Amino acid sequence: MKKVIILGNDTTIFYKKIRFYRFLKFLGYHFELKYKDDSVKKSEEINNIIKILNTKGRKNTYSLIYDYACDVLDQEFVCHNLCDFKNDRCASKRNKNSKHHSCCEGTKRGLCKHFDKKTKRCGIKSIACKLFVCPYLMKKGVKYRVNKVVYLKYFLSFRQKTICYASFFEDKDQVIKKFMNIFRWY
Ligand code: SF4
Ligand code: SF4
Repeated sequence: MKKVIILGNDTTIFYKKIRFYRFLKFLGYHFELKYKDDSVKKSEEINNIIKILNTKGRKNTYSLIYDYACDVLDQEFVCHNLCDFKNDRCASKRNKNSKHHSCCEGTKRGLCKHFDKKTKRCGIKSIACKLFVCPYLMKKGVKYRVNKVVYLKYFLSFRQKTICYASFFEDKDQVIKKFMNIFRWY
């Protein structure tokens, strides 16, 4: 079974219908995206949503949702230079004159075991860490909620969203395993 989605420049209806499309996905539909005419702007986000809808299997679907969501959060932090690292220390730690370099380090917990000292980056893909905003950034008005990330908003249940907030220091596979334990249509 095939569902052709015709997209115009007003994408509001498309987003409103995502939950219905998810139901069609459950019934085994394949989705094809067409544009009304050449004037319609192509959207990477909508293309990604169609890819999620066309992905077979719950695990593969969650994997794609997770990857797209992480990409969005990474881009947000990097593009807006939110943590503003200078000499390997973030703005918050510099501001507090702390000996730590970022929130990957804590007084009691020390440096996180997932922090790769060579690359000076996180070695895993933890969505909770990516959603985390420290009090210093919060004061500056930065806030990330799961519903700000389209892929999480439309494709996860309330409980799965809670898992996103709570799974600090956990890698993609561990989080997806938790998602899988909660019933969804796909
Ligand atoms: S979220 Fe805050 S504490 Fe963590 S790296 Fe960014 S500025 Fe530093
Ligand atoms: S898991 Fe979280 S705290 Fe640990 S290195 Fe990665 S981002 Fe930092």
